[in-house]
Amino acid sequence: MNRYSRFLSTLYVLTSGLLAWTAVLQYRYGPLWAGLLFTAAGLVPTVAVVRESVIGDQERALAELAAGPRRPGERVADAIVHAEFGAACCERWWTSLGTDHDAACAHRAPRSSAA
Ligand SMILES: [Zn+2]
Repeated sequence: MNRYSRFLSTLYVLTSGLLAWTAVLQYRYGPLWAGLLFTAAGLVPTVAVVRESVIGDQERALAELAAGPRRPGERVADAIVHAEFGAACCERWWTSLGTDHDAACAHRAPRSSAA
């Protein structure tokens, strides 16, 4: 997580805390619907913090990939695409939208004879 992500996460947590405090005030002194609304609104920045964390993980994985070995003349984007294709399963997995595997694929689960 870089410093901008940390700054955004801090803002999100602060916003979530203020919305939670507003929800408490609405539950005590305001209408119930307003308390429920601020409770739901307070969860949204929490989701944003999780999203920032996921983006940080993806950036870290890309940085590791970019720092890794590449073929001569291969650009970073090419290395990323090559690694993504390499991480994918077999050809049948691609064409069956991830529902089936080639007979020789290591990820193929044995079919049950009970069906
Ligand atoms: Zn497969």
